Amino acid sequence: MFLKKFICHALALALPLVAFAQSNLLTTQTSYENIADAVSWISPNGQQTLLIASLEADGIAVYDKFGVERQHITALTSQGADVRYNMRSSGHIIDILATALPEENSIAFYQVDGSADQPLTALGQFAIDIAPEGVCLYQDPTTGVTSAAAFSKQGDLAQYRLDYDGKKVSSHLWDEQGNPKPVRLIHVGGELSGCVADDEAGVLYIAEQNVGIWRYGADPENVKDRALIDVAKPLGHLVEVENLELALQDNGQGYLMVADESQGFVFYNRSTGQYITQFDLDGIEEAKLVTPSAAGLWIGNTEADRPVYQFFSSQQLETLTGIDLSSLRSPRDGQSQQVALVPATAETQPVSDDGDAADDSAVWYNQASPEQSLIIATNKQGGLMAYRLDGAEVQSIASGKPNNVDIRQGLFAGDGFPLDIAAASNRALNTIALYSITDSKAPIQPIAATGDNLHPNAAELLSHVDEIYGLCMSVGNDGTPFVFVNGKGGEVEQWRLQQTKAGIEGEIVRSWQLNSQPEGCVVDDSSQTLYIGEEDYGIWAFDASPAGSTEPRQVAVVDGETLVDDVEGLTIYQSAQQHYLIASSQGNNTYSVYDLNHKNIYLGSFAIVSNDAAAVDGASDTDGIYAISMPLGSDYPQGLFIAQDWYNIDPQYRLQNQNFKIVDWLAIERQLVLKTKNL
Ligand code: CA
Ligand code: CA
Ligand code: CA
Ligand code: CA
Ligand code: CA
Ligand code: CA
Ligand code: CA
Repeated sequence: MFLKKFICHALALALPLVAFAQSNLLTTQTSYENIADAVSWISPNGQQTLLIASLEADGIAVYDKFGVERQHITALTSQGADVRYNMRSSGHIIDILATALPEENSIAFYQVDGSADQPLTALGQFAIDIAPEGVCLYQDPTTGVTSAAAFSKQGDLAQYRLDYDGKKVSSHLWDEQGNPKPVRLIHVGGELSGCVADDEAGVLYIAEQNVGIWRYGADPENVKDRALIDVAKPLGHLVEVENLELALQDNGQGYLMVADESQGFVFYNRSTGQYITQFDLDGIEEAKLVTPSAAGLWIGNTEADRPVYQFFSSQQLETLTGIDLSSLRSPRDGQSQQVALVPATAETQPVSDDGDAADDSAVWYNQASPEQSLIIATNKQGGLMAYRLDGAEVQSIASGKPNNVDIRQGLFAGDGFPLDIAAASNRALNTIALYSITDSKAPIQPIAATGDNLHPNAAELLSHVDEIYGLCMSVGNDGTPFVFVNGKGGEVEQWRLQQTKAGIEGEIVRSWQLNSQPEGCVVDDSSQTLYIGEEDYGIWAFDASPAGSTEPRQVAVVDGETLVDDVEGLTIYQSAQQHYLIASSQGNNTYSVYDLNHKNIYLGSFAIVSNDAAAVDGASDTDGIYAISMPLGSDYPQGLFIAQDWYNIDPQYRLQNQNFKIVDWLAIERQLVLKTKNL
């Protein structure tokens, strides 16, 4: 309340200041009848900026930072302008501008190169399914894959994934008639008037002119539910939204800036979506705005006798409005270039339940024929599945609510009948369920546990943790098998498995407490170390032996960069040369690799991207992961890596039930080595 009052007061005083500022205002030096939208482009060294204005029937004009016109493209009606840097496609890397051509039902593209005589070079256009009123771009910050979202007066938004072949930008998807096909078509509501994507946050803001501002997931491979950020008066602060823009600051901070025809400029906190303030600028009737650089904002003044863009420095704006615009950063700097991109090799059949269902996996190694090894995986809504290494389902059994799964082989070998055992955390009964895995048509068979520590109604081991969640297995140096489970409340239990005449019994040998919710865990049998991820905090190491200390040793902390919460699945890749701990860094859709041979140093991260040739999509928002280094046939000569994929889509971008992505380890190793050499 105080802030609002302060600003209203400051504004009352500020009006003469604006008038003062008008006299030595920097403006664009040519004027056209209409200005629709504009965007800034910043050169790689940050020295040069361009203002690219979409002028409706007057085409597109490009201005330098002094407002001098550098280029004017005529003979087209341009509505909307957006830029993305370093779009990667077919080995090319370019900066692109997109604009909507309402008269032609098309979107058009230009390459932006500030050093050229003519900064914009046409890259073609393509017809789309809706009559576009504007367009915005979204770029996956990890992969560089870029898409254009056009919106209409009829309330529709059509998003197209873009390809660039060195000459033209075109749609990645085509329908059977050979027409560009959107990767996503959303009916938002009534008349739409603006959109802008926050690439880092993976968020797309859409303005419904007389209703308010919607927040959608921006990535067509990673669609989240929509939410309303603000609405029209009297419930909210808006009346008629004209335009949206973002001002970026570090660490996800900055502003969502809204130009409202009757309310002026309305600012929201970029990370929380909270309303901050609103203000008017003297002499500017119809608000349209744009972010240029670290220096300030170009603001479109359409109602003046001469419609122009006027430049307001960050300092001027701070004096006028109280908003700290001092540490704006270039949108060019937001990209993560350090992540190795590895295409998925294959994917499993989708699980049988929709929503959040697939979770964790482990590999059963087939000693006799390694290429016929099996992936054993959980559907946490009710089953356990076995898949071949090409992803085909071999078996699916209904079995409680198994969350995590792990496998150890050749257990209890002393009596001459070694068992391969899978253990799963069963959230339906708060138990550990045991299964034997064999080379047969129905490889997963439940084992009825025996002894004193069973669930009253099921032959499963009853855990005492609050809500059973993570699970991993180990084999001690003397061959004793153990199961570790953890609960949402942070408790950890270590169970010893024993074979008696009656069957397999389990007993708790140790339990202790973490500070917050854990889940992913893995044991490195070779060093008898248990690794546990605390979802919001980081990764801990513990002595895995039952008599060992429960003192935690810190391996990695959530730092928002190399490890982004939630910390989810953990796994170990160990070969003759390598000894890695890998974590699912769920918050940035990557997998972080730590070198256990070299003091757990962070080696780098990789992401699993789509493999268009194999018709497999990438993996994101991953829970469970698993790695194995054994050669598994010609497709997986150094083993493989498995990741749960939250958003499994088909090649037409239609959402499928969740599944698991399978990646040839060799592809990961190659990319990782390349990236770490470049560091
Ligand atoms: Ca724009
Ligand atoms: Ca696991
Ligand atoms: Ca999570
Ligand atoms: Ca989790
Ligand atoms: Ca999970
Ligand atoms: Ca996916
Ligand atoms: Ca798929």
